[in-house]
Amino acid sequence: MQHPIIIIGAGLAGWTSARELRKLDKTTPVLLITADSGDFYAKPSLSNAFVQKRGPTQLVTTPAASMATSQNVTLLAHTRVNAIDAAARMVHTSAGDFSYAKLVLATGAQPIRVPMAGDAAGEVLSVNALQDFSEFHARLTGVNRVAADRGIELRQRVVIMGAGLIGCEFANDLIASGFEVTVVDPSASPMAALLPAGLGEALREALANHGVAWHFGTTVQRVDHHAGPGSALQVQLANGEVLVADVVLSAIGLRADLSLAQAAGLVCERGIVVDVQLQTSAAHVYALGDGAQYANGRTLPYVMPIMHAGKALAATLAGQSTPVQFPLMPVAIKTPALPLVVAPAAPGMAGQWAQTEPGVWLFTDADHAVKGFALSGPQTSRRAELAKQVV
Ligand SMILES: Cc1cc2nc3c(=O)[nH]c(=O)nc-3n(C[C@H](O)[C@H](O)[C@H](O)COP(=O)(O)OP(=O)(O)OC[C@H]3O[C@@H](n4cnc5c(N)ncnc54)[C@H](O)[C@@H]3O)c2cc1C
Repeated sequence: MQHPIIIIGAGLAGWTSARELRKLDKTTPVLLITADSGDFYAKPSLSNAFVQKRGPTQLVTTPAASMATSQNVTLLAHTRVNAIDAAARMVHTSAGDFSYAKLVLATGAQPIRVPMAGDAAGEVLSVNALQDFSEFHARLTGVNRVAADRGIELRQRVVIMGAGLIGCEFANDLIASGFEVTVVDPSASPMAALLPAGLGEALREALANHGVAWHFGTTVQRVDHHAGPGSALQVQLANGEVLVADVVLSAIGLRADLSLAQAAGLVCERGIVVDVQLQTSAAHVYALGDGAQYANGRTLPYVMPIMHAGKALAATLAGQSTPVQFPLMPVAIKTPALPLVVAPAAPGMAGQWAQTEPGVWLFTDADHAVKGFALSGPQTSRRAELAKQVV
């Protein structure tokens, strides 16, 4: 019997691998195992769904069964892989054991959780999957806050922990959808790790003009049930300030999910380490997506790298060993209050940001070579032109 190619994970990385493989190889059996429903959705739409009035059901673009049929894949949904035996080429799952010819780890990342005090610390939500979004959406839309004495509806209050890319996107989406939004972050400005300080300041101002309240230079220390009426939460900051919220959303970052790979003895650092062919340290085992650490030591938790990796991996799985090549991949940030496109330099690269004209920032190294750029507002349409300047 021919053992299948097993793909673990039905996110963008898992489904892209299956789809790209099927373009090259229509017959090799593929078994896709996933802990979630397997429904296909575009994860980036989680952080602009409210303004588009799309709930979790509307975000599913293709149901799991249709995906499985169209890709000629056997799907095991709601099934967790508990262990990998790379020597025996076998995975142990909640639905039994399966042998593989080749294995693809597309297991993604998990939200970072910081230990937090307070009797409502467990109610802090993170949104990194459709299921998380369902809960977040239900919490925000399920209860209307009514001023009892006046009988008028009040806006739901959301405190967002983290002013990174995802925190800012949610802040923009929620403020534009009629919620009260407060963002708390230890940095001095939004997206401090990604944007030049001046551009971060422009984003802070643009979102503040729409009503976002910022608390920089501090963190959330504890979350408790509020003593007053209703089900509100009391959010205590490290600087002593106290906020009241209906929902607290943690958006402080993601970390590759390494548990399975580490237990199987695969080399892992910040992600599952892969070479240019996307092979892990174990023969016949590959990885891509938010869970992988690519050959140059980078994790690339965005859509475009998955598209490139998925194509290269499919060719390798189909028998044509193919290295992945990542071009410059600018990221569009979904903050309509101030549209942004950023092409960051490689992490740790020495250099500096300078604004060259309104809305255009270049990151140059010691030799004045352009290594990255950031664009805002109308200048975002110039991303292809700027990309050509990066060497
Ligand atoms: C709110 C938000 C907005 C974003 N916006 C953008 C954007 O605008 N542009 C952009 O480029 N990127 C964006 N990103 C990033 C992008 O969406 C991700 O890089 C991408 O979706 C990751 O896909 P993945 O398949 O690697 O991981 P995931 O989508 O996390 O999939 C992992 C899969 O593995 C399964 N799994 C894990 N462990 C097991 C196990 N043991 N057994 C079985 N199954 C398992 C899970 O169930 C899941 O199906 C955004 C991310 C978020 C959270």
